[in-house]
Amino acid sequence: MGCLFCDIASKTIPAEIIYEDDASIVFKDISPKAPTHVLVIPKSHLASLSATSEEHIQLLGHLQRVCAHVAELLELNKSGYRVVTNIGNDGGQTVEHLHYHLLGGRQLNWPPG
Ligand code: AMP
Ligand code: ZN
Repeated sequence: MGCLFCDIASKTIPAEIIYEDDASIVFKDISPKAPTHVLVIPKSHLASLSATSEEHIQLLGHLQRVCAHVAELLELNKSGYRVVTNIGNDGGQTVEHLHYHLLGGRQLNWPPG
């Protein structure tokens, strides 16, 4: 079974990539929910945060650092931003490859809907 974000990570499917390193890739969300909305994903397939275990701690830490680094690149540091990952049906997850939404550029509401 194919995975959309694995295909983006391998560049089989195009995306607007704004950052990449050995373990992660960051690209613009196709349907942005804020003036800045990018997705931070691991290149290796993991279905969601729920599919991770102890062996992924280093990767998870790296992904969070990438979120902060990309936020800085996109000049969101001063105004602030949000990092969120949706898990499963109630979480609103639609793509089953771990991804962090990095959102900014407007006042974000809390609590989320
Ligand atoms: P989630 O609903 O948390 O699983 O988030 C999946 C996100 O992927 C949504 O915000 C979609 O807009 C986004 N998305 C779906 N297909 C693509 C694509 N081909 N390129 C970029 N973003 C996509
Ligand atoms: Zn995948």
